Amino acid sequence: MSEVRVRIAPSPSGNLHVGTARTALFNFLFAKKNNGKFILRIEDTDADRTSQEYIDNIFDSLKALGLNWDEGPDVGGPYGPYTQSERFDIYPVYVQKLLESGFAYECFCTPEELEQEKEEATAAKKAYVYSKKCENLTEEEKAQLRAQGRKPAIRFNIAKAQKAFYETSILKFDDLVKGELQMDTDLLGDFVIQKSNGAPTYNFAVVIDDALMKITHVIRGEDHISNTYKQILIFKALGFEVPEFGHLGMILAPDRSKLSKRHGATAVSDFVKQGYLTEALINFVALLGWAPSDGEEIKPVDKIAADFRIREISSSNSIFEYDKLKWMNSHYIKALPIETLKEMLKPYLAQYDLSELSDAQYTKMVELTREPLTLLSDITDAVPYFFGGANVMVDAEVQSEVLDTDDSQQVLTAFAQQAVSWDWTEESLHDKLEVFRGEFKEKGIKPKVTMWAIRAAVSGRTRGADMVGLLEVLGKDIVIARVKNAIKQESKI
Ligand code: GLU
Repeated sequence: MSEVRVRIAPSPSGNLHVGTARTALFNFLFAKKNNGKFILRIEDTDADRTSQEYIDNIFDSLKALGLNWDEGPDVGGPYGPYTQSERFDIYPVYVQKLLESGFAYECFCTPEELEQEKEEATAAKKAYVYSKKCENLTEEEKAQLRAQGRKPAIRFNIAKAQKAFYETSILKFDDLVKGELQMDTDLLGDFVIQKSNGAPTYNFAVVIDDALMKITHVIRGEDHISNTYKQILIFKALGFEVPEFGHLGMILAPDRSKLSKRHGATAVSDFVKQGYLTEALINFVALLGWAPSDGEEIKPVDKIAADFRIREISSSNSIFEYDKLKWMNSHYIKALPIETLKEMLKPYLAQYDLSELSDAQYTKMVELTREPLTLLSDITDAVPYFFGGANVMVDAEVQSEVLDTDDSQQVLTAFAQQAVSWDWTEESLHDKLEVFRGEFKEKGIKPKVTMWAIRAAVSGRTRGADMVGLLEVLGKDIVIARVKNAIKQESKI
């Protein structure tokens, strides 16, 4: 069997979409599983919608997800260039071949004429297919049209290809994911393969590239199924071997509509900005249509690759459950080594002055606050009270409900007096706090209330990092200064 060669062929008209990331992953896994090659091709034939920024984003996002390609625009390879705009001298050669073999013809129709045909079809309640008006123009007629300044587009002649290669107009193929698919190709209409400005259309360029790059399996979204019939006919007409095709179900939002920005992030780089780990994201997208044989959903890509079988991909649509992704993300955050996590959190701590903390304090702060993190960005709101020295922001409600009560004021006054002489180690703080709580319990103040008062004074909140750890990281001076700040003037010592 020849070497398996698959590709991802994004159009750089936006940042890399998670749907494209999933298609890339399934191609990558299929290549891995079959010792094949995974190729990146940039499909930038539509110059108006293309930008270098998007191309860079596609490269960076795929790399961040670990989907490294064997051949592509940057790394090259035996069948380059791998960017369509750099292949514009290749496509006309094949257009010419089709013109010569009669599988294509020049079409001089103006946009207005085509619009009129479409309107007539709509009025007659018929699906529009091109009338083939230009199929049999004589050389003389063509010369006249050219003399009028008209430039022809080139159309593919469906009926001609049908007759040459198939007995009926029904074209069937065995889809790797969906099983047998078929369509009446009479409904396709003679489509344009080269625009009047000389640019190839998507359906044409993709076939030439897939053929010349020796792609053996085309795995992509099911929105391309109707294109596949057109492409098979072009492969046939040019005498190329037809690759196998596999079409993946769509990814829908939880409300079953098309996944879009109003549901949340859709671009890989936006997920990353929001604090998702690429390991979680790639694991999550693998489960959109594929299920591990052992039911273990949390799996790194190399384990998924070992278990992956293309024929087991579900042919139906998948729902993008943001909550499930969050759950996976929290799992991956928990598994990160502390030093890695410390580095990864830094962009989300930009508003704080990290130099206030020693490395040991920063480590401890991260250890104390990592547990509930669902997104890396959750750290931003989890840690303000580790910064700012003697000053801490106190929530208004915490002030009135907790700090201002008589019980709290008593607790804080006693704390400020006693804690100055405490040993500021984890063990000692643990013991001292226990005794301290005990004393207040005897005075009728619940241990919970005692702890709340201290926590509220020190952090401005009633919930957060483990108390002993928090006191230890902040250090005695800051803790006592904050507690003193929380004591009302009249009860100040
Ligand atoms: N450029 C096409 C897209 O982004 C690729 C389709 C294909 O894989 O053939 O949808």
